[in-house]
Amino acid sequence: MGRVYNFAAGPAAMPLEALETAAREMTCYGDTGMSVMEMSHRSKMYLAIYDETVALVKELMHVPDDYAILLLQGGATQQFAAVPMNLMTGSGRADYIDSGNFAHGALVEAGKYGKVNVVASSRDENYRAIPAWDKAAFDPEADYFYITSNNTIFGTRYAALPDTGSVPLVADMSSNILSEPYDVTKFGVIFAGAQKNIGPAGLTLVVARKDLLGRCMPITPKIMDWQKQAENGSMINTPPTYAIYMAGLCLKWLKKQGGAEGIEPVNIEKANMLYDVIDNSRLFKGTADPASRSRMNVTFVTDSPERDAEFVKQAAAKGLVNLKGHRLVGGIRASIYNSMPVEGVKALAKFMKEFESHV
Ligand SMILES: *Cc1c(COP(=O)(O)O)cnc(C)c1O
Repeated sequence: MGRVYNFAAGPAAMPLEALETAAREMTCYGDTGMSVMEMSHRSKMYLAIYDETVALVKELMHVPDDYAILLLQGGATQQFAAVPMNLMTGSGRADYIDSGNFAHGALVEAGKYGKVNVVASSRDENYRAIPAWDKAAFDPEADYFYITSNNTIFGTRYAALPDTGSVPLVADMSSNILSEPYDVTKFGVIFAGAQKNIGPAGLTLVVARKDLLGRCMPITPKIMDWQKQAENGSMINTPPTYAIYMAGLCLKWLKKQGGAEGIEPVNIEKANMLYDVIDNSRLFKGTADPASRSRMNVTFVTDSPERDAEFVKQAAAKGLVNLKGHRLVGGIRASIYNSMPVEGVKALAKFMKEFESHV
């Protein structure tokens, strides 16, 4: 069977080139005589792979030297707890914007460790927009200010970042990291599960300003202590060695596309292609507020849940798969991360028009 266009929200499609390289190197990497999966994480040959992946993250995100780059396990969800445990030790308070299900999960988790101040929320409107914020509600003594830069389930993205002054901005960038350039110096901490826009599941990236390390709560498990992880090159224990290697292959591909700067216009073009169909349709309706629309997750519905299901089914028969929306929103969701080629989005836009013409 040929490859489909996979619109899954995560784990998601990866560049074919990266997969083919991995396939070629599966049983014998370079002149090592073994698979990357079989290497000791402390071996010279593996450390070269590890260092190269970290260097690619640093280069493609333009991470300054005063930031630590950690490659961890546990997913973005583990960072929901790691963030407060590592940072909530000054005033013991943090500001959160509740812009989606993952943002909400993060603030519930943080509430176990300190006082959470929800400065803005769109929960009452099922997260259809990034909520407006009033700077007067920001706590100048908060230990950090937390946002989710792209809300994967609801298909929303911050068009502008809140100005938090000297309060460190912490961002869960799981679903739009490296899809557009971000100025790392505007953030105290950025983290992301890899399985949307970096590589395979099992790897979590944390980029943290070094002056924010070393202030964690005494109860923090060593494995979640960013300072200890930084001191140990993310190798307190065995890191997800193969996922790191695969992420490296995907990042090499991204570098060839011109990095975040090169891929951003492509991502805008892809998203606009789908939003144009939606905005000119009498059948399809976008579920996200237009001012908050995501470039990575395009969420929409038809005139009924039954027709949504029919759309998803017919699309799959044409090789356009995993278009079913998240159960919290229903409808249809097309996740079009960096690795989704323009042709895949074109094929989906064409199918949407075709489907509508039969209604
Ligand atoms: C997918 C996702 C998560 C959860 O990631 P895990 O790695 O599965 O823990 C958290 N936040 C956002 C924004 C996501 O898209």
